[in-house]
Amino acid sequence: MPVEIDPVKSAQKRSDYDGFYPLGNLKRLSDAIVSDQGEVSVLLRCAYDEQGLPVMLISAEADVEVTCQRCAEAMPIKLALSATFTPKTARLEEDLVPSEYGLVEVNEYGQIDLRALIEDELLLAIPLVPKHNVEECAIKQQDMSWGQLDPAASEKPANPFDVLKSLKNSK
Ligand SMILES: [Zn+2]
Repeated sequence: MPVEIDPVKSAQKRSDYDGFYPLGNLKRLSDAIVSDQGEVSVLLRCAYDEQGLPVMLISAEADVEVTCQRCAEAMPIKLALSATFTPKTARLEEDLVPSEYGLVEVNEYGQIDLRALIEDELLLAIPLVPKHNVEECAIKQQDMSWGQLDPAASEKPANPFDVLKSLKNSK
């Protein structure tokens, strides 16, 4: 998978890509997850839309593990991206860009950093406070009443002392 592409040339050529980035090459994403083993699979179609805008249709996904904020164990999640982007060129009339398109900055050579774009989007796909489903979590909250989750309590990130305390309590 190329790291950078020229979205206009690629649209002219109607380029398609089907490839992957090793997670180890996406440092910011690797830092946010448990292990950098694995890959981000990517499908990219470059074309012109009906308006004549060069567009990139990007699908990307990665199976990764994040840290559960309740039990501090690893938790598998799928990060996915499916979106359409158009390059922010000097000639672009932004008013004409459909609202569902993402705008991407191009560098002085007319290229976009495709890998950074995909990395940014996958970082945004990580939940702010990831937590196992209750039945899969190593920590069973005894005071949890079904159907009456306290939203304030469930948003609170677990700190190691709380985790210890609840381990003690469950004995
Ligand atoms: Zn958990």
